[in-house]
Amino acid sequence: MQGFQRTVSCGLVNETFLNKTIHICGWVNKRRDHGGLIFIDLRDRSGLMQLVFNPAFSTAAHTTAHSLRSEFVITVSGKVVERTSDTVNKDLPTGIWELQVESIEILNKSKVLPFTLEEAADVDEELRLKYRYIDLRRIEMQERFKLRHNVIFAMREFLAGQGFYEFETPILTKNTPEGAREFIVPSRIYPGNFYALPQSPQLYKQLLMASGMEKYFQIARCFRDEDSRTDRQPEFTQLDIEMSFINEADIQPLIEKLIHFVWKKIYNIELPLPFPRMTYKEAFSSYGSDKPDLRFGLKIQDASSAFAKTELSFLRAVLDKGGRIGGLHVENREWSRSDLDGWVDKATDCGAKGLLWMRFKEDGVIESPVSKFLPATFLHDISACIPNIKPGSVIFLVAGAYKDAWEILGRLRLAMAKEYNLIAPNQFNFSWVTDFPMFEYDEKAKQWTFVHHPFTSPQPGWESIAQGDVQARAYDIILNGVELGGGSIRIHDSAAQAKVFDMIGLSKEDALSRFGFLLEAQELGFPPHGGLAIGIDRLIMLMTGTTSIREVIAFPKTQRFHDPMMESPSKVTDAQLKDYGLKLQAKIQQ
Ligand code: ASP
Repeated sequence: MQGFQRTVSCGLVNETFLNKTIHICGWVNKRRDHGGLIFIDLRDRSGLMQLVFNPAFSTAAHTTAHSLRSEFVITVSGKVVERTSDTVNKDLPTGIWELQVESIEILNKSKVLPFTLEEAADVDEELRLKYRYIDLRRIEMQERFKLRHNVIFAMREFLAGQGFYEFETPILTKNTPEGAREFIVPSRIYPGNFYALPQSPQLYKQLLMASGMEKYFQIARCFRDEDSRTDRQPEFTQLDIEMSFINEADIQPLIEKLIHFVWKKIYNIELPLPFPRMTYKEAFSSYGSDKPDLRFGLKIQDASSAFAKTELSFLRAVLDKGGRIGGLHVENREWSRSDLDGWVDKATDCGAKGLLWMRFKEDGVIESPVSKFLPATFLHDISACIPNIKPGSVIFLVAGAYKDAWEILGRLRLAMAKEYNLIAPNQFNFSWVTDFPMFEYDEKAKQWTFVHHPFTSPQPGWESIAQGDVQARAYDIILNGVELGGGSIRIHDSAAQAKVFDMIGLSKEDALSRFGFLLEAQELGFPPHGGLAIGIDRLIMLMTGTTSIREVIAFPKTQRFHDPMMESPSKVTDAQLKDYGLKLQAKIQQ
């Protein structure tokens, strides 16, 4: 059987093919019947090429062309000619040429699609995902996956160039406490026992350091059985990295160089290095978030001391309970009274119980719902907390427990940036957030838990300070206010590891039964090491300007973690259950 002998892809036809006979293949994108002449836009993943069927070139081809419909798959051959000047399409790279078709073969027909490619972006997402292979035919989608491929390829190229080895670690693994719930897989050979799908290859990559592999990376699929939230997927992809004999000062610049390399390859942009660094404490106090969006200012400022002597009862109550009053200072904006009041409602949407605004006018006049209750010294007092207050300045204040109030202000800051277009388009703003707390107290479980994962190394001196003050050698990389990835320097010493397990309430027996292999490896020549993982789906989402990772995953699940195409998850037969020694509870059985 002869091959297709494609000369070139549709979108790559250029002047070198002028007056030559070529063979191309693809899908019928559009068909226009102009009486004697039939025009087809033929599409493959590279783009479009116009075909002309004229009985003068071939009556057989012209006859066949009558039967063509959208999405038929065809192969044609014919001569590339220039279009007449009135039919040139400047929007298409191939828009000055067309193919005079001399022969055609229909490779496959298509019924009418459930939605046209033009409609796809607007149809219900369930339907798009049920027919994902049609959705993916759109040039816009093809471009996204081309970018995804190019980014991953560049990552591989960079890391291989730096001496990293690419690994695959097991998908059938063992349950580990990394924060999220795991998917479990029953074992047929060991009835009553389960594998877990990895939340990340964390322990395997650490053990590869114990194996002396020194520099590991993996394009790793990770699985988390979390409750469905707006933009989570039960499986997603990370660029997972681990290295031996390193500190923060080695890994962070390496990641910066990796991102620099990718940006240079993809956009031909030289990103300025190093990326700014900020501690978790600084990030939270200025932005109310551990993933600050630094594309605009509007920092949170602590205005508590301006109210130290306030008689306003709601503020007094907050301060007396050890709470704080934080403010956002907006300059150079015209506000109507209803704009200002409107932000009170928006603050409620951000979780606030209330929002106080103050507008500063000429001659020290302050307009505010509480202006009557402000002391004569107030302008002076507030200026000591919030610099550069001028006529026209507006301050929005939120009072409450520090964490709550600052988180609300953080959300308000983002809402204001959105509302007032404070973010210039096409910016890529990277930063690092470091020095996270190592532990946090879980009020529900009434016990301490880890913040990153329990294999993260605490900062020196941790044994002699209060548990809540211990900081981790953990770092996150942030892009445009999104946590792109994170990692840490790890514990490589079994005594320290045992102590951390103990501090999060894992008994010796539990620690041994779950992590005995790690504790043992830490006594058998484990080198110092650390690493990081970058969320590839999130990265591609930000690079393509899309707003959901589902747009950049070829076959994502819906927001309810369902696959409408294959209809998974799905039931299994009783015989299958029996094979695994499983029985469904009566209330689940149908
Ligand atoms: N395993 C971590 C995660 O998936 C990343 C790391 O610590 O390297 O978030």
